[in-house]
Amino acid sequence: MEWKIEKARKLKPVYKDENQIGFGKFLTDHMLIMYYDREKGWYDPKIIKMSEIKLSPAALVFHYGQEIFEGMKAFLGNDGKIRLFRPRDNMNRFNKSARRMMIPEIDSEFVLEGLKKLLFLDKRWFPKKKGNALYIRPTIIATEPTLYLKPSDEYIFFIILAPSSGIYGLKELRLYVEDKYVRAAIGGTAEVKTGGNYAAAFYPSSLRKGYDAILWLDSREGNYLQEVGTMNIFFVEEGKRLITPELDGGVLPGITRDSIIKLARSKGYMVVEKRIPIHEVIEKTQNGIYTEAFGTGTAAIISPIKEIFYKGENYTFSFSSNLRNEFYEKLLNIQFGIEKEDFNWVETVE
Ligand SMILES: *Cc1c(COP(=O)(O)O)cnc(C)c1O
Repeated sequence: MEWKIEKARKLKPVYKDENQIGFGKFLTDHMLIMYYDREKGWYDPKIIKMSEIKLSPAALVFHYGQEIFEGMKAFLGNDGKIRLFRPRDNMNRFNKSARRMMIPEIDSEFVLEGLKKLLFLDKRWFPKKKGNALYIRPTIIATEPTLYLKPSDEYIFFIILAPSSGIYGLKELRLYVEDKYVRAAIGGTAEVKTGGNYAAAFYPSSLRKGYDAILWLDSREGNYLQEVGTMNIFFVEEGKRLITPELDGGVLPGITRDSIIKLARSKGYMVVEKRIPIHEVIEKTQNGIYTEAFGTGTAAIISPIKEIFYKGENYTFSFSSNLRNEFYEKLLNIQFGIEKEDFNWVETVE
């Protein structure tokens, strides 16, 4: 198979002010698309102008939510080069999500080849400021028109691009520890990026007005920390150790999470992945043992956490250490090609 390119005849005007791009507000000129049916497998891969998709109202995705997505970023360096950050890890996770949701897997190498062509074609949409990026959203939806409850025999795969800044900016987050609702279940779909997980979090989030994000506890005992909003969470213990929830099936295995763990260890910091009961967080924050906390994710990058609200009380971090800033700078420098790394995380497009 080969990517067919049908260039848009007319290009859209690019955003005027890079400080106003927001997150996912503007879509670029082109998209990547490919189809699947049980007999043919994946077929007709092409890059076309950004356009609407026409579906039957009976398409399975509308009724039973059979869909998966990914979130990754590409960066334009001062040297004019486009860089992808750990794209193969995103593709592997995408295929892992596909297996869980009974969606046919894609050929990572082939899709990456198409993605690179797409990025090159829409290069004029790249923001330049450190912290901004071109956000990449690969998605697969079940399109077979039937109300019968079964995995679809037809799918559409697409990738769309949106210039984006970090979702929280530099804001220090206030968290609400959720002790009634859960984000997604262990043994369910908590570990994979599928739409229903995010739709199910809207309602609990709407109840916690005045807070920036929810600190989710595990679905079995309502005791162990999982994630914050749609980010993984880290605590800094005594300014020198990183503590983060282990991947217990209720946590999305973030690539930013993994990058921070590897960077921290390479710099000589100790990193502990373990089950973290909420009472331990409260105690260690109150006693000043946890000096900092932050959330990590591709969309959010690394967001500092100011305080957590639990059972009527606020607990505030002292910020007597500054590991968040250290990792934030390091990560962006790697992504923008300013600093070299030994992990082979960065892939140049041209
Ligand atoms: C995507 C996502 C993350 C972060 O993963 P990254 O690979 O770092 O972007 C964390 N939690 C949830 C629920 C997510 O969907």
